[in-house]
Amino acid sequence: MTTPDATPMTRDDCLQCDLDDPLAPLRAQFDLPEDVIYLDGNSLGARPKAALARAQALIAQEWGRQLISSWNKAGWYDLPRRLGNKLAPLLGAGADEVVLTDSTSINLFKVLAGALQCQARLAPSRKVIVSERGNFPTDLYMAQGLISWLARGYSLRLVDSAGELAAAIDGDTAVLMLTHVNYRSGAMHDMQSLNRHAHEHGALVIWDLAHSVGAVPLALQRDEADFAVGCTYKYLNGGPGAPAFLWIAPRLLAAFEQPLSGWWAHAQPFAMQPEFLPEAGIARALCGTPPVLSLALVECGLDVFDLTDMQAIRQKSLALTNLFIALVEARCASHPLALLTPRDAAQRGSHVSLTHTHGYGVMQALIARGVIGDYREPHIMRFGFTPLYTRYADVWDAVEILADILDTGAYSSSDARAKVT
Ligand SMILES: *Cc1c(COP(=O)(O)O)cnc(C)c1O
Repeated sequence: MTTPDATPMTRDDCLQCDLDDPLAPLRAQFDLPEDVIYLDGNSLGARPKAALARAQALIAQEWGRQLISSWNKAGWYDLPRRLGNKLAPLLGAGADEVVLTDSTSINLFKVLAGALQCQARLAPSRKVIVSERGNFPTDLYMAQGLISWLARGYSLRLVDSAGELAAAIDGDTAVLMLTHVNYRSGAMHDMQSLNRHAHEHGALVIWDLAHSVGAVPLALQRDEADFAVGCTYKYLNGGPGAPAFLWIAPRLLAAFEQPLSGWWAHAQPFAMQPEFLPEAGIARALCGTPPVLSLALVECGLDVFDLTDMQAIRQKSLALTNLFIALVEARCASHPLALLTPRDAAQRGSHVSLTHTHGYGVMQALIARGVIGDYREPHIMRFGFTPLYTRYADVWDAVEILADILDTGAYSSSDARAKVT
């Protein structure tokens, strides 16, 4: 048995699932505090143990001893491309199609600008960017900023539910810009059918994979996506603020121009020419010198994925989210909790969101008792399940503590919020 056939409904069942879990040994790759149940790997992944020694070597040897020669000798210069190649299989992308660079916000700006420019050449009357009102705010903000800066009559058309997307894409649509797994609800779009529908209507598609990569199997090539960006510090465990990734379909690369044409995107950065000439490949999406210390540590997170595969991760992810939903519904039925995440497993990423009027206070009470999830407005408690290190018994214990907090009313109803929720 690799994953539970039926939902385990006692703590002993959960312990047995952990014993039978083929991914269980991978938890030892991470440094996690003993007294914590960490259910926030969807926001900040845990630290791979290897990252500490890697940081030590980077700082003491590569920076401290080898100094500037490390750009060549320690391979610093190649990191954005080499790590992009290491990440590519998790995206269903090919070799030399991915780079690690900048932040997700900035990468989204670059690919959106590039996509609009591709369309401006082919079909200049297309002036609409379609997205969801519930998309992650930075995605909407970056689009708003670009539209206003371009001042060429572009607009953002936002829909309120996924079901309205198909009808919102028409002959005016330049770009469909979506987040694959929604940060609030955990709902996952059908990437293949949306790509197909958008292409039939002449639109290009940009996917933000922040809550997908490392959590669900992705097939950008097979599904005929156009552009993708996403974070490395969530399910990829790359470290706080680690550089993001960017992918462009090879068929679009030659036409892709980005506005942040820095020297790292130049065909010959060290020729020091006064004219910008984009690199032929995916490096044209880079901008300037990367934060090497942070970038290099992403590799420690990626290395763990070499020890398993995305099918095994998805199987355990669904077993964990199914278990959590079943236990919450069994143990907390008398409380006003609502499930925001799709009940249909096929439409879910790897986190589960519950709403409660005092969601912020309940989450603070959970954190005080060692169960770390997080809170998003309005009233949403998020619980992220990371198959590389979350145990079935952790799910059981987390729900027991949640039920106890709700049963005893041991939470604050205050509206005060910390800066990061
Ligand atoms: C986490 C997240 C981001 C974060 O972007 P940064 O530029 O790294 O701050 C962007 N988009 C989505 C969908 C996210 O979930």
